[in-house]
Amino acid sequence: MSGHKMMFSGLKLWTKGRSRHAWISRFHDGTNGSGNASFSTCSPKVCIVGSGPAAFYTAQSLIKNVINTFTQTAKHSRCSFYGNVNVGKDVSIKELQQAYHAVVLSYGAEGNRSMGVPGEDLAGVYSAKDFVGWYNGLPSCRELSPDLSCETAVILGQGNVALDVARVLLSPIDILKKTDITQPALEALAESQVRRVLVVGRRGPIQVACTIKELREMVNLPNTRPDMVAADFEGVTEALKDLPRPRKRLTELMLKTALEIPGEKEKRNKASRFWGLRFFRSPIEILADPDHNRTAGIRLGVNRLEGSGEGARAVLTGEVEDVTCGLVISSIGYKSIPIDPSVPFDSRKAIVPNNMGRIEQAAGLYCSGWLKTGPTGVIATTMNNSFDTARSMVEDMDSGTLDVSAAKTGSQSICALLEKRGVKPVTFSDWEKIDIVEMRRGEATGKPREKLLTVEEMLQVAQK
Ligand code: NAP
Repeated sequence: MSGHKMMFSGLKLWTKGRSRHAWISRFHDGTNGSGNASFSTCSPKVCIVGSGPAAFYTAQSLIKNVINTFTQTAKHSRCSFYGNVNVGKDVSIKELQQAYHAVVLSYGAEGNRSMGVPGEDLAGVYSAKDFVGWYNGLPSCRELSPDLSCETAVILGQGNVALDVARVLLSPIDILKKTDITQPALEALAESQVRRVLVVGRRGPIQVACTIKELREMVNLPNTRPDMVAADFEGVTEALKDLPRPRKRLTELMLKTALEIPGEKEKRNKASRFWGLRFFRSPIEILADPDHNRTAGIRLGVNRLEGSGEGARAVLTGEVEDVTCGLVISSIGYKSIPIDPSVPFDSRKAIVPNNMGRIEQAAGLYCSGWLKTGPTGVIATTMNNSFDTARSMVEDMDSGTLDVSAAKTGSQSICALLEKRGVKPVTFSDWEKIDIVEMRRGEATGKPREKLLTVEEMLQVAQK
C-alpha cells in the first residue's frame, strides 16, 4: 500500500433500501513499521458511498488487506454501516465532504442503457435490470409482474446478464425452487408458457460478451436444447487459432454446441424448451400486436462486421428480419447515474471522470467499482479496481495531497443531520436481523432465503 502503515477506525456505511449506500470510515493515528507516527494531528475519516462489492472491497483494503469477507469488514471495530440513507437526497456529497477527510463513491450502475428504438415502451418489453430485480426481490421491481404467457422470448445483448435471464426463463421449476428467487417470481415462472429464448447479439460469435462459466450453465441446463444457426459460425473454426485463450475456450464451447454431434442431439431431442444465440442482428423496432397494446415481435436489422476480432464493428446492411415473440428483454448493459450535481460526471461514458480512482477536479473525492470504470468485468475486476482506489487514497494521504491535518466530525455530525431530517439509518446489526428473518423464512420451504419484498417490511424487522 504505502510507506506508512496506517490504522483505521470507525468505517461507516450508508444505504437506502438494498441499493443506495455509503461507507464512512475513520483512520486514527498509526505508526509505520519503524514506529514513526504516520499522522500526528488527527484521525483520517473516510466515507464510502455504496454497499456493493466495490464499496466493500474499498473498505476492506483501507482497513486491512487480509480481511477477506464482507461481513468481517462490516463488523470490524473500525468500520460502521449505515443503511437506508439516500445519498444525494437525505445528505449531500458536500455535507459528507465537510464531515470526512475523503469520500469514495462506490454506488455502482443503477441505470440501464436504452435501445432507443420505436416500441420500446410497449407492454411486454422489459429491461434486464428490472427483470433481474423482479426475480431477485428488489423492492422497486416488485410490481413488474412480467407477462410470461407467450412462447418465444427475445433477449437483446449477449452478456452474462442476458444468459442469467435466459437461464431463469428456461430452468425447470424444481431447480429454481432451491434458489433464493422470490416466491411471487417462482409462482409466475411455474406458470410461464415461454418455451424458446433467443439471445440476440449485434456482432458475431467471436465477439460475444458472456463468459464460459455462464455459457456452460446454459448448455447444461436440463430439459433444454440449444438451437443455433450453423451458418453464423462460418469461418469461426479457422479463426480459433489466433484467439486469446479464454476467448478461444469460450468460442470452442459455442462451436461444439452449435455443431453438436448427432448422438448428443438425439439425447436432447426430448427437451421441451429451446435456447439459441443469434448473431449479426441489431434491434430496429419492437412490433406491436394489431391493437397496439403489447409487443408481438421484433424487427432486427441484419449486420455485417467491419474489422476483426474483439474490436469489430457491426454495420447495418439494410436487410431486416422479423421475429415473432411476446416478450422482449433488453440486456445491453447497465449505466451509472449522477446522484449529486456537485460531482463531475461524464454523461457520454456514464462514469465519474477519474484518474486511478481520484475524481478529477475534486480533491478528497474518490470512486471505485462500475462508477469508476463503467459496468464491465467480473467480481475480481471490481476487487482490483477498488483496491487501486484505496491505494490512490493512501498515497495521497502519505504525500499530503489529501489534507488530513484538521480533525473532522465524521458520523457524529452526519447522524445529527439525518436525525434532524427524520432519516433513520439501519446499522449492520439491524441488517443482520433482516438477514436472519429471510433465511428462517427460506428454511421452511427448502430455499436459502425468502426475501422481504418491501422497504417497510425490512425496516419493521430491523427496528424490532
Ligand atoms: P455486457 O457484458 O457489457 O454485455 C452487453 C451486451 O449488450 C453485449 O453483447 C453488447 O454487444 C450488447 N449491446 C450493447 N449495446 C448494444 C446496442 N446498442 N444494441 C445491441 N446490443 C448492444 O453487460 P451485462 O451482460 O449487462 O453485464 C454487465 C457486467 O456484469 C459484465 O461485466 C458481466 O460480465 C458482469 N456479470 C457477471 C456475472 C457473473 O460473473 N456471473 C453475472 C452477470 C453479470 P457488443 O459487444 O457488440 O457491445
